[in-house]
Amino acid sequence: MSEPTAVDKDVVVSLAYKLTVDGEILDEAGAEDALQYLHGNQNIIPGLEKELAGLKVGDSKTVSVGPEEGYGLTDSEEIEEISLEDFPEGIVPEIGMELEVKDEDGNDLFGRILAITDDSVTMDFNHPLAGKTLNFEVSVVGLRAATPEELAHGHVHGPDGHHH
Ligand code: ZN
Repeated sequence: MSEPTAVDKDVVVSLAYKLTVDGEILDEAGAEDALQYLHGNQNIIPGLEKELAGLKVGDSKTVSVGPEEGYGLTDSEEIEEISLEDFPEGIVPEIGMELEVKDEDGNDLFGRILAITDDSVTMDFNHPLAGKTLNFEVSVVGLRAATPEELAHGHVHGPDGHHH
């Protein structure tokens, strides 16, 4: 397989990026610590991935991703009241606190405390970026063909051939 010249399916893309939400920089990576992902394999959020197709090394782009194609809309069913009796032992709830609790089925859920009453705590289990528009400034800093093993796994391996 020849080396790729543009972002396309099954190409390993090195991406420098800056993520801004509500005017605040949440995450960034420069050319030296660029994000590597396997294009077309759902390694990154779909709203960003589709905008990167066809870009070449050195190309930059600003991409705005709405919640539907980012981390989803805020779901009111993901906001739940938890009895203080079921609250993890030894933790004093505070508004804004982020913690993991178990649901009725014993699954771990990560959420934030929205409100506290005498006998219950209201928690928001939506992703922290749900309902938000994600603003990306991206630059393609490298492209290479994926190895057969990477294609089989659907993700990028490190320089030593192992998983990140
Ligand atoms: Zn793998």
